[in-house]
Amino acid sequence: MMTHVRVRFAPSPTGYFHIGGARTALFNWLYAKHTGGTFVLRIEDSDAERNTKESLKSLLTDLKWMGLTWDEGPEVGGNYGPYYQSERSEIYQTCLEALRQRDRVYEKEGAIWLKVSGQMQVIDDVIHGPVHRFEGKDFVIYRSNGTPVFHFVNVVDDIAMKITHVIRGEDHLSNTSKHLELYKAWDVPAPKFAHIPLILKTEGSGKMSKRDQGSLVEMYRDKFFLPDALVNYLALLGWSPKSDKDILSVKEIINVFDLSGINKTHARFDEKKLNFTNAEHLKHLPKEEFYTRSLHVLKATRCERFFEDDAYLRQVLSIVQEKLRSFESLPHFIAFFFSNDFEYDVQEMRKICKYSPKERLVEITDLLSNIPFEPTAIESALKAVSIQRQVPLGHYVHTLRFAVSGRGVGPGLYAMLAVLGRASVLERIRRFLTLDLNSSAL
Ligand code: GLU
Repeated sequence: MMTHVRVRFAPSPTGYFHIGGARTALFNWLYAKHTGGTFVLRIEDSDAERNTKESLKSLLTDLKWMGLTWDEGPEVGGNYGPYYQSERSEIYQTCLEALRQRDRVYEKEGAIWLKVSGQMQVIDDVIHGPVHRFEGKDFVIYRSNGTPVFHFVNVVDDIAMKITHVIRGEDHLSNTSKHLELYKAWDVPAPKFAHIPLILKTEGSGKMSKRDQGSLVEMYRDKFFLPDALVNYLALLGWSPKSDKDILSVKEIINVFDLSGINKTHARFDEKKLNFTNAEHLKHLPKEEFYTRSLHVLKATRCERFFEDDAYLRQVLSIVQEKLRSFESLPHFIAFFFSNDFEYDVQEMRKICKYSPKERLVEITDLLSNIPFEPTAIESALKAVSIQRQVPLGHYVHTLRFAVSGRGVGPGLYAMLAVLGRASVLERIRRFLTLDLNSSAL
């Protein structure tokens, strides 16, 4: 019978939740989901001085936001609690007592030391293969102030919580020989280990740290990132699916995720790729979800004025989804739909000037007043003018886009004009015709 997988994410809440921690949590969560196992969240807060309430709160909020909900742990409970190390002192005392009984500890200068075995330790690591490490010296497991040390509580809890696979950052590989000494001392078989490669900064050779740009999960939440896009990007940071597809839904990732696909080499953080992944997910959101998320973004950014006419807002959103790169840019991206009084992009204006924009607009104003105002009719009318006047279609298209939106990029022109409506388009053209194109102040 296959063993029921039990994995855990065991953060110490000492600062804001960063993407390194998020990826460790994600790999554990994915492995539990893939195998039908249990994902435990254990808070390693035994070092009271370094832990803060705020970081615990940000940790729980960010995990939930990413969709990495836990089967056992804070708020949900479980059979192996408490899940805060600060509440497990009695368990630690009992386990220390067991080591005393086995004559595996001694006291020196008030601290309690573990006697090491003097044997070579073999770490059974899924990613690195068997790793041989020798722990030459006895080490402290309880400080003289009576508090237990990380190695001790970490192993006690992994045993007590019946953890089958320890998936954590490679920076813990060097601690693992101490951990194996502890398993031996209690005569308990060790779990399998998977020490995952580090995340390096975008440039240079250093490890990504909390101070590096783009490292805090909270920032992505604040910028209205799609959590599934962050999950997609982080999953591929150190793990490779067998296919070379890199835009994946969470479901697809769960289906193919396996520890054997985790790379040995370190991964490099690439914010551009993360932004690209987010844009791709955004493009593929179901229409209704795009609408609901847009409402949330517009509320949070105080754009209630866009809500006056829901049917209109829906039309606007339906034509911008394909072109929008991030929800953060949504309010600015659609603002011109809601006011004729938008600003013109000065650089774009310079480009437009080479098309003799006023002449172009004058040539089509009558036409736009008379044709049915819907995308295909507008398109054929503009094409006809372009042929008749022997002026490239692009000159009309760019000029019109600029005159009605003040910008050079946006949703498809014909759909955009139709949504704006005839009256507003003509009004915007009139406004453009009054501009002094030679003035630098627009
Ligand atoms: N509290 C440790 C950390 O945050 C946990 C290490 C482990 O996963 O075993 O690094």
